[in-house]
Amino acid sequence: MSVTVEVSNLIKQFDGGHVRAIDDVSLAIEEGEYLVLLGPSGCGKTTLLRTIAGLEQPTSGDVLIDGSVVNGLPPRVRKVAMVFQSYALYPHKTVLANIVFPLKPEKLPKQERESKARWAAELLGIDHLLDRKPRQLSGGERQRVALARALVRAPHVFLLDEPLSNLDAKLRASARDELKRFQQRVGTTTVYVTHDQAEAMGLGDRIAVMNHGKLRQLGHPVEVYDDPADTFVATFIGSPPMNLVPRDGTLVGFRPEHLLPAAHVSGERVEASFHVDRIEYLSGDRHVYGTVNGIGKDTRVIARLPATVTDAVTPGESHPFAVNVDKLRFFDAESGERSE
Ligand code: ATP
Repeated sequence: MSVTVEVSNLIKQFDGGHVRAIDDVSLAIEEGEYLVLLGPSGCGKTTLLRTIAGLEQPTSGDVLIDGSVVNGLPPRVRKVAMVFQSYALYPHKTVLANIVFPLKPEKLPKQERESKARWAAELLGIDHLLDRKPRQLSGGERQRVALARALVRAPHVFLLDEPLSNLDAKLRASARDELKRFQQRVGTTTVYVTHDQAEAMGLGDRIAVMNHGKLRQLGHPVEVYDDPADTFVATFIGSPPMNLVPRDGTLVGFRPEHLLPAAHVSGERVEASFHVDRIEYLSGDRHVYGTVNGIGKDTRVIARLPATVTDAVTPGESHPFAVNVDKLRFFDAESGERSE
């Protein structure tokens, strides 16, 4: 597979160097891949996307598209299409006029432009809405118009900046599913920015986790979840997050679903006395909050018990719990990096 987007030692500073929004990031995105940029607010996701699009110029480092350095080239010639959080639709234009708009500078006959726009609209299932204005559309329909407009120039890369953030929770889930199926159908390389880990886990072929302008880990969702590169990734991904228990200059990490009543843990295991404070019931699971003693020092942790584990767990009491040793992850207590 050929690489379609690559950034190499990218640095982007603002305010004369006072803000380093991207701090030496290198990554390569494969053709047809769905890469999600994930991280907390202000970590540099949008700046990275805008730099790939050509809306920002790197302070140093390179952006390559289809193998060529595109630094300094304007967005139009980069064969990328960006969809913004706000969708940026023209309110006074019809849906058809909105979708046709990016084709204007291409000097194609009007009929040809419109037939391309209709093709894009059909692909997104909005061909019955072409005469409407944006205000006459639902949030999900507006999103599809923005995608059709991005699609109409047959870009090599889609750049999507939190495109679902304006939708309510229910619509968001169905729009996410739709977006994924659409991308699978057209096969266009996609870079998708979000701060929502559930969205990232559901959509990404790979996830690039960023913090403070740095790329902390790049991997398949399962890899990022099971084998976090550092304590930032370990606690940013997963809800509730990974437990971290101090022990001899090391932090011992384990996911809440791996801390279980000892009778449920087979194989080589670490046992702990789990003093339970309180229990939350969430989607059939029990989230049990308390303190463990035995894995490390007394530390607050959370256990997540699935409905199939019916053992009595009582607030105010201690119970024998355990974690299988294969599920333990170790981090350097000072740097936070994985230590084995
Ligand atoms: P969010 O999820 O809140 O959109 P983000 O991860 O997309 O955040 P960026 O918008 O890329 O973050 O911003 C990264 C950092 O760069 C922030 O500290 C931000 O304040 C700063 N920044 C972004 N654009 C500019 C600018 N034009 N001038 C100065 N600082 C900027």
